[in-house]
Amino acid sequence: MTKTNTVLTIPSPMEAGLKEKPYPTIIPGFVIVDVAIAPVCNESRIYRDHQFEWHDSPEHLGHEGVGTIVETADGSKYEVGDRVIIFQGNSCQACFVCTTGLSPTHCLGIPYEGFDEGMAPQDVTAGLLGIEKVNGSESGGFGMQRYRIAPEHMIMKLPDELSFEHAAAGNCTVGVGYTANEEAGVKAGDVVIVGGVGFIGLGMITAALHRNATVVVLGRQPYRMDLCRQMGVAAIIDPDDDDWLEQLHAITGDRRGADVAFECSGAPYYLDKCFEGLRRYGTLFSAGHAGSQKYSLSILNDLIDRHIHWTGGHDVRFRDRSGLIRMMLDPAVQRNIEILNTHSFPMSEASEAFEVGLSKNCGKIYLRPAE
Ligand SMILES: [Zn+2]
Ligand SMILES: [Zn+2]
Repeated sequence: MTKTNTVLTIPSPMEAGLKEKPYPTIIPGFVIVDVAIAPVCNESRIYRDHQFEWHDSPEHLGHEGVGTIVETADGSKYEVGDRVIIFQGNSCQACFVCTTGLSPTHCLGIPYEGFDEGMAPQDVTAGLLGIEKVNGSESGGFGMQRYRIAPEHMIMKLPDELSFEHAAAGNCTVGVGYTANEEAGVKAGDVVIVGGVGFIGLGMITAALHRNATVVVLGRQPYRMDLCRQMGVAAIIDPDDDDWLEQLHAITGDRRGADVAFECSGAPYYLDKCFEGLRRYGTLFSAGHAGSQKYSLSILNDLIDRHIHWTGGHDVRFRDRSGLIRMMLDPAVQRNIEILNTHSFPMSEASEAFEVGLSKNCGKIYLRPAE
């Protein structure tokens, strides 16, 4: 019997299934990973809207994951049996972003500036579909597949004592949280607000608590607020309360605002609250987005007069990988990963997983491609 690869498909809105494709083939520089856990990220939204990001399509889904190497190519520095985390994409390794340890999502190999002219994902070798193209493979470029092709520079070996369940939070959950906290310079004693909490927000909270920051959540969704409470945040403020800002200032004291705000939904409502909740010279880090939707602000009143730093990102920098692994070995961080990872489904039950994701009564959801 010829070996095949089982891949997840979303052929139409509110429908997910599995499809058998040819087993992946690789060239030197790549390995094949038997995926243990493929965490759900933007796929619940894709399941509902059938609107794909530039790197996804109905049969090419998923970008997060952990697993075990089952095949290497000539000259590999890895071995069959190595347990690894896979970071997304296939960055060029040559541009200034790649060579200074920044995030592969912002590699110059991905022509974001060319979006308007229309971009062919298979021609972007730095992207996931490009991985299949450069390997001449009919499957394996994506996360929600039993066997995944991973570029060697996009994987990191896991210590034996780090379980797949803990390490699988190291992509878009605590991985993004680690890099965002690092970039925003969060330190012990800082007051950090986290607005619009989903799994990215839960990752921000985990990383900020790890740094001994005082974490204040701006949120309303009862299930997720309960997760935040269990994780040990200092306060949860309902931003609809008339006195929400006074409640926050009672915590931030004479600085009158938080040192750092992580906005994790992309909703203008929460962006407004995060701007308002910051102190002068505070940093706003956007990790959520609502597609290409615009947001208006006053350059004078919102940015210059209050001297706000505003940036964003949603990936793990190269330079943060070893620190991220070390953080995930911390028992307190592992406890919070167990709290935020609320569901786990066989990939054959992906529809149920996506429905749970859409319900918002969840934290991070794991899929298991081998089941
Ligand atoms: Zn993700
Ligand atoms: Zn690059």
